[in-house]
Amino acid sequence: MAVTGTACAVCGATAARIWRVAPDYLLGGDQTFRALRCLSCGLARLQPRPSAEDMGKYYAVGAYARAEGDSESSGLAARLNRTFQEQASRAARASLRNEGRLLDIGCGDGRFLAAMAAHGWQVEGIEMDGVAAVLARKRTGASVYNKSVEDLNFPEESFDMVSLLHVLEHVSDPRKVIAEAFQLLRPGGTLFLALPNAGSPEAALFGNLWYALDLPRHFWGFTPSTLRRLVKECGFHEVKIRHFPLFYLFQNVRNVIRRLAGKKTAPANVATDRVEGSGMRTLAFYALLTVSKMLGVLFPGEVMELTAQKPMR
Ligand SMILES: [Zn+2]
Repeated sequence: MAVTGTACAVCGATAARIWRVAPDYLLGGDQTFRALRCLSCGLARLQPRPSAEDMGKYYAVGAYARAEGDSESSGLAARLNRTFQEQASRAARASLRNEGRLLDIGCGDGRFLAAMAAHGWQVEGIEMDGVAAVLARKRTGASVYNKSVEDLNFPEESFDMVSLLHVLEHVSDPRKVIAEAFQLLRPGGTLFLALPNAGSPEAALFGNLWYALDLPRHFWGFTPSTLRRLVKECGFHEVKIRHFPLFYLFQNVRNVIRRLAGKKTAPANVATDRVEGSGMRTLAFYALLTVSKMLGVLFPGEVMELTAQKPMR
């Protein structure tokens, strides 16, 4: 069924078809949400979208931004997490000769900031979740602003890298955010993004049970072509995308098992919802990550990592 209404953030077209209908798997509840897919470019979007005030209740304070892994309790988990962050920082730094100044937008509890600081980068973060912002400050000693990027008024061309790791799919206006990142970067600076791939085989296979749908928190479902188009239209070049197939394998399988068991709501404990915990679970996750990285050389996958450069003048 074709639906019109909110315009597509990438191509501006309004015509779309219903793509997915799913509940909030993270927090539970009876309500279902609807994602449409743009008929013209393929970008998925949440529509209708809850009001800005209502969105607050879908981000349990302190839980969502830390849910990527509260693994300080286990030495092994902490070590493996540092390895993961180190790999991300290596990918981010691949195109640069020198260290510089980084702004991580939506920095969560500051793990990526810490990994970059360890390589001599001057780091700053923005985090809307107050609890996570405090943790990020504690972890890095860096300035972490508990505000939106529009409210900060950084001078133009202040940073050598701007990163948004699993953030772009959450913002109201992704074009505005990428344009803002372009302004903030010095000529030759790097944009570094990580986000789910709504055009991946996993998204198709798991359908309404795909973990990275994450409705209603994910407003947008980017594909490699829609992401590349947005970033290029905002002025970036040398756009490179890397893939991580099967990244959410455990969560996807768990969603299927829960569905088969007739459970439609989410686990009560948000903080332990994500894969990381201690011991075997963590080890299993990093084993999967290693396989994922190898497969990603050959196949598309459900998580994408993008680097792009702001042209030199
Ligand atoms: Zn579109």
